[in-house]
Amino acid sequence: MLPSVATLRDPLPLGGKKTSEAFEKVFGIRTVGDLLRHYPRRYYTRGELTPLAELREGDHVTVLARVETATLAQYSRSRFPNGGRKTTDRAEVTVTDGTATLTLTFFGGAGRHVRALQRGKIGLFAGTVSTFRGRRQLVHPEYELLPVDAVDAETTAEAAAEYATELIPVYPASARLSSWRISQAVQVVLNILDIGEDPLPEEVRQQHDLWPREMAIRAIHRPQDRSDLQRARKRLKWDEAFVMQAALAQRRMAAAAMPAMPRPPEPDGIAAEFDRRLPFTLTEGQRFVGEVIARDLSCAYPMNRLLQGEVGSGKTVVAVRAMLQVVDAGGQAALLAPTEVLAQQHYRSITALLGPLASAGQLGGAEHATRVALLTGSTGVRARRSALSDAFTGDAGILIGTHALLEDRVQFADLGLVVIDEQHRFGVEQRDALRDKAVGSRPHVLVMTATPIPRTVAMTVFGDLEVSTLAELPAGRSPIATHVVPAAERPRYLERVWQRVREEIAAGRQAYVVCPRIGDEAPGEAAGDDGGIAADDADADFTARRPPLAVLEVAPALEGGPLAGLRLGILHGRLNPDEKDRVMTAFTAGEIDVLVATTVIEVGVDVPNATAMVVMDAERFGVSQLHQLRGRVGRGVAAGLCLLVTDAPEDSPSRERLDAVAATSDGFRLSRLDLEQRREGDVLGATQAGRRSSLKMLRLLADEELIAFARQEASAVVEADPQLAGHPALREAIDDLLGPQRVEFLDKA
Ligand code: ADP
Ligand code: MG
Repeated sequence: MLPSVATLRDPLPLGGKKTSEAFEKVFGIRTVGDLLRHYPRRYYTRGELTPLAELREGDHVTVLARVETATLAQYSRSRFPNGGRKTTDRAEVTVTDGTATLTLTFFGGAGRHVRALQRGKIGLFAGTVSTFRGRRQLVHPEYELLPVDAVDAETTAEAAAEYATELIPVYPASARLSSWRISQAVQVVLNILDIGEDPLPEEVRQQHDLWPREMAIRAIHRPQDRSDLQRARKRLKWDEAFVMQAALAQRRMAAAAMPAMPRPPEPDGIAAEFDRRLPFTLTEGQRFVGEVIARDLSCAYPMNRLLQGEVGSGKTVVAVRAMLQVVDAGGQAALLAPTEVLAQQHYRSITALLGPLASAGQLGGAEHATRVALLTGSTGVRARRSALSDAFTGDAGILIGTHALLEDRVQFADLGLVVIDEQHRFGVEQRDALRDKAVGSRPHVLVMTATPIPRTVAMTVFGDLEVSTLAELPAGRSPIATHVVPAAERPRYLERVWQRVREEIAAGRQAYVVCPRIGDEAPGEAAGDDGGIAADDADADFTARRPPLAVLEVAPALEGGPLAGLRLGILHGRLNPDEKDRVMTAFTAGEIDVLVATTVIEVGVDVPNATAMVVMDAERFGVSQLHQLRGRVGRGVAAGLCLLVTDAPEDSPSRERLDAVAATSDGFRLSRLDLEQRREGDVLGATQAGRRSSLKMLRLLADEELIAFARQEASAVVEADPQLAGHPALREAIDDLLGPQRVEFLDKA
């Protein structure tokens, strides 16, 4: 028995338990609301059939087509073991879009299909496209015939209602759940839906000319015409943007209400001394952002700032200056880095920059001095004990480390500032975990990223942070020339690549060779965090041809071939941390000419003498990743060279992407491009804000204006009524958006 009404939060009111399970298993759909947010992927216009010539092999498709012929054939199964001389029915049905055709093949029960699929019938057919004897076919497709007119004897009244409009919704479907089964479920739900209050306040709806929510939901599933769709989409995008911005506004307000210890600058302290000793002049951007941060740190509520800046723009120095201001004010600072390699490098370069200022209590230590400690997963027992104790007593003003910093036993005397480097590698949880280590009041937080973030993404993902940008690079940087090397088309080009590398080394420089894979993976195991990204679906055919190149294969091949006689080193995520440190130190010292590595070098690695980079199988990497990678060269005065070696065919999407990277060094443009090619869900990441369901309708780039408006309106509503006491429906929508993490999400602000 179906219930007579259903609200958005009710479980799916579908007949069988099995059906509900399928919905949950295949699409994670548990509630009425989940189902109604499973929006159609597209709409077929009645009378306009799907172009069948465009179907691609291997795709799971749902097509709208007309039956042309249906014939019954018999075939002998004698070829099968134990088959005897049995014969079986086979139905062969041809459907058409008026130009191209598609074959539907059924084994067994063939008579039934031939009877149902009479010439002229129009239906939806779903299955996986394959090729047999040169013809496209669907084997055992599922199908549903449309009622030819609304009262067709063969169709139920319900099915007739479903297809009564001009536009036929086609849902994201799978072999287990066809588009029309989803459509039927939606119909069931729409018939008994009680949607409740609208989460969008009336004034906002009027101001922005938005439909009531119920109208939009009904129209998106059962549109009368295309203009309906537009209005429905606009309203549903507003829902997503507004609810998320309201949640973020609450979080911002809660954060501003927290007390923090003010850490004002000390004109005569370590920070001032550090500035005097700096071997270079700060860029205007570094100076300006530095002032903004100095002011933030002087406030009695916590700083929450995102510092974004091009690769090589000098964010580290900005962070060090902020950390020293806090140390001068009697507090401590923690710097969290995403990788061991980067933490070690920060430790080396920061102690070098500080010189005697980092040697408190030691012979040769400066008058004002502090201590810098390093803590990573591999720090030895003795060093770990002393780092932990220095953090606990406050002797260490600066603690640098990886995730190891988040462990419970790490305790601070007075943690005043948390710096998170390369934020894109971390989720909000880690930020929160480190922040919780401050005793008494909240620490100030600075997060840094070299993956430039378009405004709307910053607004959405980092909606609770203020954003500063370092736009310029320090003077004296040389441009990086990037070239795509089509190795498959022109094998001679690859020889030239290695020759160029030899020339750089001969000129006293160093080089990186980057590969997508380590090479010691168990069969079938992905390279994981350390390796390249998976290629687009569109390139699947071409990338499937061979496994991506691996460090452990490429390095010996180069050593025994084109780079013979040079000093090669290897670096990847599976080396033990001491080994990583040893290799990086040797490379920094110029004892290694060519470093063959995975993307472990992607973030932050800073060796100014390295001027050339060769990226093998470059199409395996994402746009932003390539931009990050090439940021490793061109860090000194000598010009940088980045060669993107690829077998991707000339007009493939992969190749276009590589050409784009070669054509511009503007990280903002590239990250936009990157974003356009990914789904929003990946951008936000499951962990980014503890969101259970990611955005379904909203497009962070295309809907920039809408998001900005929604942010304005949502902030105004939350400022007037922080607990949303007068907006119960909005509160409920926020709960649904954030799921069980809601309380944590807001508490931890
Ligand atoms: P990123 O912003 O990518 O983290 P880093 O902080 O690693 O960049 O800085 C890159 C390099 O530039 C470092 O070697 C750093 O010492 C140097 N650097 C930073 N600021 C300046 C400056 N104002 N002038 C010259 N070199 C600088
Ligand atoms: Mg950096």
